[in-house]
Formats: sequence, C-alpha cells, structure tokens
Amino acid sequence: MASTKNLQTGKVLRVTRKIYDVALDNAVLCCNIRGKLTNTEDEYSSVKTGDDVLVFKLSEEEGIIQEILPRKSRLSKYIESKTYKEQIVAANIDQMLIVLSTRQPKFKSGLSDRYLVIAEKNHISPLICINKIDLSKENEFNLYKTEYSKLGYKVFLVSALYKIGLQRLKEELENKVTLLVGHSGVGKSTLISSVEPSLEIKTKSVSEKTNKGVHTTSSVQLYPLSFGGFIGDTPGIRELGLWDLLRNDLREYYVEIHRYARDCKFADCHHINEPGCAVKRAVTEGNIFKERYTNYMNIYHSLKTVSYD
Ligand code: GDP
Ligand code: ZN
Repeated sequence: MASTKNLQTGKVLRVTRKIYDVALDNAVLCCNIRGKLTNTEDEYSSVKTGDDVLVFKLSEEEGIIQEILPRKSRLSKYIESKTYKEQIVAANIDQMLIVLSTRQPKFKSGLSDRYLVIAEKNHISPLICINKIDLSKENEFNLYKTEYSKLGYKVFLVSALYKIGLQRLKEELENKVTLLVGHSGVGKSTLISSVEPSLEIKTKSVSEKTNKGVHTTSSVQLYPLSFGGFIGDTPGIRELGLWDLLRNDLREYYVEIHRYARDCKFADCHHINEPGCAVKRAVTEGNIFKERYTNYMNIYHSLKTVSYD
C-alpha cells in the first residue's frame, strides 16, 4: 500500500462506536476520524468496514482516518421507512463464501439459495463451500456440485477439520475480500483456522461458542490473510438485516429463472401458478433443477409483498 511519510492507505477491519481498526501493510491501527467525516449524517460518506481509507499515522498503534477512497462495491440492507433507505453493511466485499455442511447440521439447499439471492442482489460473486465431506460420501454431493456449477457458481467440496480440498479454495481467497456466511455449526470458524492458522485465536474460542451472545455487535469484521486478501466474519445474515427482500424482486436474482422468464406468457409472471409459465415448463422438462425451484417457491411465500416504488 502507498505511503508518503505518515500518510498511508489501509483497510477498515472493524467499526465499533467511533473507533476504527485499520489494517496497514504490517500493522493494525486504532483510528479516529477527522472532522469532515465526523459531521456527516450521510450514509455514503461515513466510514464502513471494508473501506479503503487514507490514514494519518500518529504512532505505531494510532491514527486518524482522513479520507475514504472510492468504493468498488457495497453490501447493503434496506430500511423500511418513508422512503426505501439504504444502509451500507460493508464496503468493497469481492465475494461471498457460502458455507454448508453435508451433515451435522443437515445440508440445506434452501439456505444456500437464499444466500445466492443476497449475493446476486448485491453484485457480489458467490462461492459455495460444502464442508464436512468426511461425514458423507462425496458422490452424494456431486449432484449439487453439478447443478450449481451449471448456473455458473463455483462449488468446493471440503473437510475443514481434515484439511481436504482446501488448496483450491485458498487460491480463490487470495487477494480478495471474502465474506463468510452460513448457519451456525457448519464449520466456518474451523474453515478460517484451517486456511489461516494464525487467525484461530481471533475467531470464536470453544468456550465462547457455547455462549449465545458471541456476536454482540451487528457488524461485519474483517481479518487479514497472510497470503493476501481479507476474510470477513458476520454475526449472521439475519442479524445484519440482509434477509429483507421483496417478493417482486426475488425472480431477478435467481439466474436460471431470469433466463427463462422472457418466454413466459405474462411479462410480470412470478412463476408460481400463472398459465403459460416458461419457468414451470423448464422445471417439468428438467431444464431447471427442481430443488432450486421448490426453494424459490418457499422463499417467495416467506417474503413481504409490499412495494417501495
Ligand atoms: P461455525 O459455527 O460455523 O463457526 O462452526 P465451527 O467451526 O464451530 O464447527 C462446528 C463443529 O463442526 C465443531 O465441532 C467442528 O469441529 C466441526 N467441524 C468443522 N468442520 C468439520 C469437518 O470438516 N468435518 C467434521 N467431521 N467436523 C467438522
Ligand atoms: Zn413464468
């Protein structure tokens, strides 16, 4: 990262109240922000986790954030108020690593489909990681690997505990900012410490895991990877408020549904029970993976119908 004497660029790892942890090349500084940045009520001008910032280094431990560098992307939630208000959860997230387990807890494609929708909505590339393959036969999961790969998603079959299949995954994480998501117990912490052993102590300890209040803040936290890039830990998509989607929007984020929808009889077809639905036809003909479509219907019925526009 560039440096001119005391002025350096860094990445915001964590935001707590008015304190910002910023990673520079070889150190993490505890930072405050400068006047111009403190006065802002504007969501887009306030410092977020993942922001690349210009920092004035006061000492080996402290600094002041001077400026936010232009954002490449943002992960947002939308607050229901008079207007459709955007709140930025994190900035510059390159990809979302969706972690599932084959067993313990049971594999749930419905959950990965929800995460895929969130990733698509936020223009973040998703990676699917099916963990605990040591607990099942790999061929049980080849079907999912095939079906999700057909949609253009990268799928990794791994065992975080026994360090199987991690090399390819590590290559995908290198020099990227990756947000880890997944149900509790699927092996996210184990995966982080297997790809980056030095992070073990920084993620949840065993004693902490038994305590439900592990994540008291509802924010994303990033950790630097020794081989380049950052990995992000979340308190959960639901806690972050990213679950909130509108029924009308869902179909846009299901890639294969979006692809077939142009042949539906009605332009505003929801692909549920409308006549002449090309999506339902594609499911019947085996061109759309049936389980994905079943999940689509379940997600659809769970969503709010209100429209903000
Ligand atoms: P998290 O809640 O998603 O962070 O899940 P953890 O990393 O805490 O893992 C939950 C449990 O699953 C722990 O007991 C881990 O040892 C176990 N686990 C994680 N990865 C694997 C794996 O690849 N195989 C098996 N058999 N167990 C695993
Ligand atoms: Zn349709």
